[in-house]
Amino acid sequence: MKAAPSDQRLLLDIVDLDARIERAEAARRNPPQAARVKELIARRNELGRDLVSRSNARDDLKLSLARVESDIDVARKRTDRDRDRLGRTAIARDAQALESEIASLAVRIDALETQQLDLMEQLETAEAAVAEQQAILDAVTAEGQQLSIEAKDAIQKASEEITALTRDRAAVAERIPDDLLAEYTRIAARQVGAGLFQHGTCGGCHIALSPTGLSALQATPLSDVAHCEDCGCIIIRTEESGL
Ligand SMILES: [Zn+2]
Repeated sequence: MKAAPSDQRLLLDIVDLDARIERAEAARRNPPQAARVKELIARRNELGRDLVSRSNARDDLKLSLARVESDIDVARKRTDRDRDRLGRTAIARDAQALESEIASLAVRIDALETQQLDLMEQLETAEAAVAEQQAILDAVTAEGQQLSIEAKDAIQKASEEITALTRDRAAVAERIPDDLLAEYTRIAARQVGAGLFQHGTCGGCHIALSPTGLSALQATPLSDVAHCEDCGCIIIRTEESGL
């Protein structure tokens, strides 16, 4: 295939633009924050489950405490009522029974108050555990939200870059003869489509040409499209090629 050396050289711009488009597409598909966001979502679910169990434990303690306090209230009211009756009774046997009940109620109230203090202490610890877990969850949520915003920005930037690069590529491609561009496209579908020949090495595969390959290349007119004997890409020869 024949092609003007200046047209062949344009393929190097296409190679560069294609590589940049590919990088931008990779960044759009998988922004740098994506892996961490995924991690944080998993962590958040885990923390959420733990928060639920800690909250349940706290609520159970609250219920137990409410029950004990209600029992104390009942026992105190009963004591008050017994004292009131005791003050008004003239029957010794009744007074004795009331005094005995007041004494056993005092023992019961004492035991319940010990339970109450114990539950209050446990509740305090449980409240702290819930608050601690909530704070961790909030921090993870905040980090996730921040990273999601940054990821969206990165995707947006990559999209804009792709649009600009695609426009640039079209402008360069327009200047390349159809058959040469088709040849490049065919090769570029599976590997680097073209490479600058420099220091005896192909710019596509970075492998040095064999002495036979080099002689053949030197014998090939610049207006002929040459291919690398190793990777098959179009070898671009310029003043830098040292041929
Ligand atoms: Zn090569």
